[in-house]
Amino acid sequence: MPISAQAAVERLLTVAWSDRLIRGWNDGWIELPIRLGEKIARITGANPDEVIVADSTSVNLYKLAVAACIAQQPRTRIITDDLNFPSDVYVLQSITGLVPEMELVVAASTDGISGPTDEIVQLIDEQTALVSLSHTAFKSGFTYDIAAITERARRHGALTLWDLSHSVGSVPTDLTDSGADLAVGCTYKYLNGGPGAPAFLFIRRGLQERLANPVAGWMGHGKPFGFSLEYAPATGIKRFLTGTPAVTSLVAMEAGLDLILDAGMMRIRKKSEEQTLLLHRLWKDRLEARGFSFNSPADPARRGSHVSVGHEEGLRIDQALIDRMNVLPDFRAPNSIRLGVAPLYTRYVDLFDAIERMVEVVDERLYEDYPTEPPAVT
Ligand SMILES: *Cc1c(COP(=O)(O)O)cnc(C)c1O
Repeated sequence: MPISAQAAVERLLTVAWSDRLIRGWNDGWIELPIRLGEKIARITGANPDEVIVADSTSVNLYKLAVAACIAQQPRTRIITDDLNFPSDVYVLQSITGLVPEMELVVAASTDGISGPTDEIVQLIDEQTALVSLSHTAFKSGFTYDIAAITERARRHGALTLWDLSHSVGSVPTDLTDSGADLAVGCTYKYLNGGPGAPAFLFIRRGLQERLANPVAGWMGHGKPFGFSLEYAPATGIKRFLTGTPAVTSLVAMEAGLDLILDAGMMRIRKKSEEQTLLLHRLWKDRLEARGFSFNSPADPARRGSHVSVGHEEGLRIDQALIDRMNVLPDFRAPNSIRLGVAPLYTRYVDLFDAIERMVEVVDERLYEDYPTEPPAVT
């Protein structure tokens, strides 16, 4: 938790909310989705008028994917891959039932680690409405070359929609220069936005007036407080707002964005690369002989900022690390222990200690005290 997030929320509760009451809306609350969007634009290499903060990642993906598929009619195909986050695939599946003739093609990774770039490039053709991928895959950390896929999509008139949830704040992007059309992402991973923090969406300038928000609401109206019964969308990206912003969460989020901007994405990426390289070396030295596989790309250039190591007792090792070792990885089925390297606050010695504690959990068979059934959240 960014230290200044606590003071910001306390200020909101004690001054802005309890003293100023609804006057807070005109004191700046109503502008938060736009103002914080500008900060995320700086982090992701977008123009300031190309990003807003709203809703959850899944909802934003839905809004943008539906809008894109309708704008792209009569094209009939969405392309994704099987490394994508399941929620994203559910959203895309739902669209095949909504937009007539639309079908979803899921390109398969050959090893469950690397994205099927060649297959995707082959699949993109004149029938392709949309290519929707995670920039960095949530399990393996494989990271796509946005510009390369986008260039191919462009050539065939397909649009690209990138989910940056696992890269924003750790892997630099150049949304404008790479030609990306659309993007979404969450703010509670490397951006440290806090539990349940709202997500963001990006629409390239030249596309904004061509797309209609399928969840039209008053906050996306040109005059929300005109209360006209005719929907007339705001100009620009604001039309992709729907309802009232989650002010408390937005106020808590800003501190994390400022930390990233202060540190700078290039410096964050440099440290992240060195740290995942160190994890690869520690895996080789300490874990491989103990039955762990390396479930992330070996090439640092294709790796995001997390490293997954696999073990047949992965779930129980993960539980033991969390419960008594003060190491907090995630478990991702079937066997991955995912170590998130957050360069703003992860130290090199933390990585070393985490691996040594994994060795202890395995050598002392400490995982045997834990159930084979996963808890609600892993
Ligand atoms: C974390 C994550 C999400 C989160 O979706 P929400 O709707 O915000 O819960 C979506 N997509 C990816 C790729 C993620 O990593």
